Amino acid sequence: MEDNTGLIRELVIANRILAREGVVDAFGHISVRNPNNPESYFISVSRAPELITVDDIVEFRLDGEPIGDLRGRTPYGERAIHGGIYEIRSDVNSVVHNHSQEVVPFAATNTLIRPLLHMSAPMGAHVPIWDIRDNFGETNHLVVTMEQGRDLATTLGENASALMKRHGCVCARRNIREVVMTAVYLQATAKMIMQAKLLGGEIDYLTPAEVDLCNVNQLGPLGLDRAWEYWVMRSSYKD
Ligand SMILES: [Zn+2]
Repeated sequence: MEDNTGLIRELVIANRILAREGVVDAFGHISVRNPNNPESYFISVSRAPELITVDDIVEFRLDGEPIGDLRGRTPYGERAIHGGIYEIRSDVNSVVHNHSQEVVPFAATNTLIRPLLHMSAPMGAHVPIWDIRDNFGETNHLVVTMEQGRDLATTLGENASALMKRHGCVCARRNIREVVMTAVYLQATAKMIMQAKLLGGEIDYLTPAEVDLCNVNQLGPLGLDRAWEYWVMRSSYKD
């Protein structure tokens, strides 16, 4: 068995960062694919991200079945979001799901969130909107079956983020730090679009080519290392 101690520690830190930055609250979660077994991923048992410690992290197969003993603890009900995306996106190694109150109004009104700031680039040029009703009718809106997770993953497609109607959003990227950057700035972008709309006039968004150019920095050491150090300092995580 390979040693995943460092990766699991980073996953715990990411949970604390997402909580501190207001991207998750009592709900929402982040996972990371097991680099030594791409058919499984690590995620916490069902707890608020701010409270998560190394001991809470467990491993699941992509179909949502636990690997090892959960010791009576409850897994996240919506882990199918993570498995569904890992199944079809071999390039994705970390996934965030949240119910950001800044993001939810966009899906509710079928309004696309598009990048209007260079720092918005990690969310991608296009953020599709998924509606669980389309293929599953009236539900409680939780993504609890693999069929639902796969359906969401299909709408996400090759994009880095997708909105979930009446629910929240999902971000999928190559690693933990990238997906945290993506989730933090997806929420910030939603806030900024709302403010720009108050000012009136047409919003001038980044072009897809500009998104790619900006991501060289935002998802490279210049942006990512600097942001990560800052976020860790602000978070409740202590060595
Ligand atoms: Zn949810």
